[in-house]
Amino acid sequence: MREARGFVLPTAEIANCIGTIALEEHFAAPGLLPKASELSFFNPDLLAEIEGVLPDLAAKRLEAMDQAGIEIAVLSQTAPGVQGLTSSHEAVDLARQANNHLQQAISLFPQRFRGFAAVPLQDIPQACDELRRCVLELGFVGVLVNGCTQGRFLEDPIYQPFWSLLEELAIPLYLHPGLPIEAPRSRLPELDGATWGWTVDTASHALRLVVSGLFERHPLASVILGHMGETLPYLLWRLDSRFGSTRYADKLQHPPSAIIKRHFYITTSGVCDDAPLRCAINAMGHERVMFATDYPYEDIVTAGRWLETAALSSEEQQAIAFSNAKRLLRISC
Ligand code: ZN
Repeated sequence: MREARGFVLPTAEIANCIGTIALEEHFAAPGLLPKASELSFFNPDLLAEIEGVLPDLAAKRLEAMDQAGIEIAVLSQTAPGVQGLTSSHEAVDLARQANNHLQQAISLFPQRFRGFAAVPLQDIPQACDELRRCVLELGFVGVLVNGCTQGRFLEDPIYQPFWSLLEELAIPLYLHPGLPIEAPRSRLPELDGATWGWTVDTASHALRLVVSGLFERHPLASVILGHMGETLPYLLWRLDSRFGSTRYADKLQHPPSAIIKRHFYITTSGVCDDAPLRCAINAMGHERVMFATDYPYEDIVTAGRWLETAALSSEEQQAIAFSNAKRLLRISC
């Protein structure tokens, strides 16, 4: 593989070096292309362009990765994906088909692709079986869940076996926006989607995991948040301050910020801006920040060029570009 660009690798890393790894790179398996009604806020022309690219797992995607300087894309089924299905049987079937479809692409381009599993959480025993198959048989490096499934958030006690399996397999869960279920009646459609609505929904989902005590029951669990941490790195001090003043503060052994810094990683997906990146590094530590682009919803070349020129030390650059992902996802050359 070619050498990572823009900085000098320490000698010990050279023998084991790889290029940039991007963690939030979407595709659509057959039967799971988003419906126009689910993304009604999008500019229709832009959405048509994106939907034309989502199924591609070969030449067009690899060309875009090359232009952006990305060596490995960790691929995931785009939202809402399996989480958007109401039928458990359909979810089980389509998750398995989507994962097999992804595995075929990985086997064709093993130097360029890795995979996050899609799991049918409508049926938890089946979801656990599918996740176990994806990790142990297909070699997937984690699981990506698009928000709620059938209206349930992931701190729901019924998911306990799923969280235990994540700990057993030692893989992270990427919590990605899905279809928000708590849209206030007064919402403005102009703020739907990635502009704001998904951020609020996903940040709230993540905080539900924190304040529910889930990480005390599952101390080895790890969660990845995209979009520079869905604003949470910016809010750590206030979360501690205000949660500490509530009647619920004694429920947790540690303040929210300590739980977030211990159990969460974040990616840069969809945010190409030095100021929030510096905030995220200062708040979380550079060992918890990883690169991602949110392709094809965002411009992958813009993201790749930004990473190359971002105001980072060599150590931070290397950590964010690939070494954190290699360690967390156990990606080897
Ligand atoms: Zn995304």
